[in-house]
Amino acid sequence: MRAVRAYVGLGANLGDARAQLAGALESLARLPQTTVAAVSPWFRTAPVDADGPDYLNAVAALTTALHADALLAALHAIEQAFDRQRPYRNAPRTLDLDLLLYGDAVIATPTLTVPHPRLTERAFVLRPLLALAPDLVLPGGHRLDAFWPAVADQRIDEVCPPNVAQTTPAGRAPGRPKPARIPSGDRSVYPPDEGST
Ligand code: ADP
Ligand code: MG
Repeated sequence: MRAVRAYVGLGANLGDARAQLAGALESLARLPQTTVAAVSPWFRTAPVDADGPDYLNAVAALTTALHADALLAALHAIEQAFDRQRPYRNAPRTLDLDLLLYGDAVIATPTLTVPHPRLTERAFVLRPLLALAPDLVLPGGHRLDAFWPAVADQRIDEVCPPNVAQTTPAGRAPGRPKPARIPSGDRSVYPPDEGST
């Protein structure tokens, strides 16, 4: 099968969210017939339609020859490996992996909806996805960036990705993280090193 560009949303707000996102990216990179082409900056975000701690969110761009349902099954397996529990809807979670887009596919089965149905309503998805693909056009023909103004009031703050040294150079206010070294254009994958804000 020909490889397609798929986008996966990552989120965590229980346990060590940084470690879980980093581990999830490692797991995605180990999937068969799949490479992680790029990872967005990471963001701290307020829970939407839910309570609990702030989330850590990012989006990964995959190049994959897995079928969409096989990719979803793989995402669920990675969630389980990170002890994902589902006690109630929108419960806090150690790891959430959502298939946001799978090439230009429009999929509506009992277990998989693509594009992800809440993709355009959430700043925690839109902002990292737009960071990776600012000119993205959805399968329905709408530009992704057209949805940003409606969610711009949702709280979302970029945080340092884990490979950025947490140094405090002279002259910089203590406690203020060094700006993330985020390449423009074709973003490279942040190696999932340990790190903290
Ligand atoms: P949330 O909507 O909060 O992410 P879950 O992660 O518990 O909730 O997912 C609930 C169900 O949504 C999953 O069992 C999965 O089959 C279904 N689902 C439908 N479409 C998608 C998609 N595009 N990505 C991930 N899960 C999806
Ligand atoms: Mg999910």
